[in-house]
Amino acid sequence: MDNKDFNESMEQIDAILKQEGISRRDAMKILGLGGATMMMGSGAATPAKASSKATGKIVIVGGGLSGIATAAKLNRALKNPDITIIEPNPQSTSYQPGYTLVGSGLWTKDDITYETEKFIPSGVTWIQDKVVEFDPKSNKVKTSKGQTISYDYMVVATGLVLDFGAIKGLEEVGDVFSADSNDGARARKILGKDGLCSIYFGDGAVDTWTQMQEFVSKASSGSKVKAVFPEPHTPFKCGGAQKKIVNLTNRRLHDAKARENATLDFFTNRGKLFSVPEYHEAIKEQMKTRGVNTHFSHKFVEIDRANKLVIFEKHWQEKGEWDEDLKEYMMVTKTEKVEAPYDFCHIIPPQKAPDVVASSPIGSDKGWVPVNKETLQHVKYPNIFAVGDVIGVPLGKSGGSARKQYAVVVENLISLMEGKELKAKYNGYTVCPVITDIGKVMLAEFKWGPDGQPPVTAPSFPLDPTKERWLMWLLKAYMLKPMTQYGMLSGRA
Ligand SMILES: Cc1cc2nc3c(=O)[nH]c(=O)nc-3n(C[C@H](O)[C@H](O)[C@H](O)COP(=O)(O)OP(=O)(O)OC[C@H]3O[C@@H](n4cnc5c(N)ncnc54)[C@H](O)[C@@H]3O)c2cc1C
Repeated sequence: MDNKDFNESMEQIDAILKQEGISRRDAMKILGLGGATMMMGSGAATPAKASSKATGKIVIVGGGLSGIATAAKLNRALKNPDITIIEPNPQSTSYQPGYTLVGSGLWTKDDITYETEKFIPSGVTWIQDKVVEFDPKSNKVKTSKGQTISYDYMVVATGLVLDFGAIKGLEEVGDVFSADSNDGARARKILGKDGLCSIYFGDGAVDTWTQMQEFVSKASSGSKVKAVFPEPHTPFKCGGAQKKIVNLTNRRLHDAKARENATLDFFTNRGKLFSVPEYHEAIKEQMKTRGVNTHFSHKFVEIDRANKLVIFEKHWQEKGEWDEDLKEYMMVTKTEKVEAPYDFCHIIPPQKAPDVVASSPIGSDKGWVPVNKETLQHVKYPNIFAVGDVIGVPLGKSGGSARKQYAVVVENLISLMEGKELKAKYNGYTVCPVITDIGKVMLAEFKWGPDGQPPVTAPSFPLDPTKERWLMWLLKAYMLKPMTQYGMLSGRA
């Protein structure tokens, strides 16, 4: 997006904000967009003065969104920074929230792809390699090219892995990183054809649009067609992504005047559409209005490509034997196989921590890096912090949560280096801009509930967050990318 586009969208945003009774200044403050706006409008922002004299070698493993943001903020805060990023991918900072827009034909791959080296902060060392071994007792990591790198402090920011191989029928696809073009090339041998696709990696997003167009064109020519949208049983990044693709497919069918020829079926392993009750109710209504069939408690287990079936294990609880001691019935889990035929199937695969992390001393039984959920410090190794999709905390697998987490990690890491108490706390904030239509978004912001209660809404704007809005669409489509590029990846927002 150039300055002209940006200024035009800002004018539209100003007009809508005015209707809602919010000034642009307040909206910018809410979004932490000051730096981004200055970059786009009137040249580079003045960097904040480095304030800490703390010293020590910091190694950041993973230079995607969280890793680069952490490096940039540390680099700005330390007077004598000694920071190394280990990252193999020359396009690691590619903009994953834009994959949805590519998958529905609104953006192209060029809009989401950019070069890692442009975002490595000045003075930070970039080792273009991959960590293959963590040795936290000796404060060392080993890389695939055979280097041993020592550190005083480490930040783990490897993101997560798409575990396509866990789905029967997709074993050949195996592990895929969202931004890795080599993985994408392998995945494309199976996905992106015959109606099967996934926006969860860059090339997959491109192919999703091709597959969606073929699907719409079949419906347009009068064929009765079926689209199936399965969610995985594991935690996954961007909890709203499947809903977005359902809604965008619905829009494309309407535009082609072919909606009545297609069925749209959304499947989730969970018992609800969203963990926050208010958003669950709102999405339930959105799906009902759009004629989307919803299926709960369906574990996505297999793709039968030959017969074009998505296979689920439907599960429910039934009363078993009476327990005389507890004076209640034992509950027994029952399952049955459910087959859903598809012409178009958009897959969100199961997701996991990278094996190299999960199987190392810094991993956990479930794979994710175990950190104190508020300070983000490793539970066993105090000189290690972790940030982004790889951490084992409830919720929190989104760029929006990474944006809150990296600030906490930087503040606490500097406190540790200075021998002070760790005071910064992450509160579980995360955000999901649920695209309900082209031109409409429900900005679902939420955070952990008190004392283990379900998560609660956490709107930044003084507006009802369960409403679909054109304003939030403008933010999603025009503002979030510069906010990421010029705000977060430079450690400013
Ligand atoms: C389809 C889709 C839609 C999304 N939509 C939204 C949205 O609307 N809003 C939102 O907030 N978020 C959204 N997200 C989520 C958001 O993009 C991620 O949560 C965010 O990118 C996580 O950042 P990260 O740094 O943890 O991981 P990443 O950005 O994935 O970076 C991890 C990096 O670590 C590197 N790495 C991995 N292993 C190693 C190793 N062994 N050694 C060295 N480096 C390694 C990888 O190469 C990679 O570059 C979406 C994601 C997807 C896929």
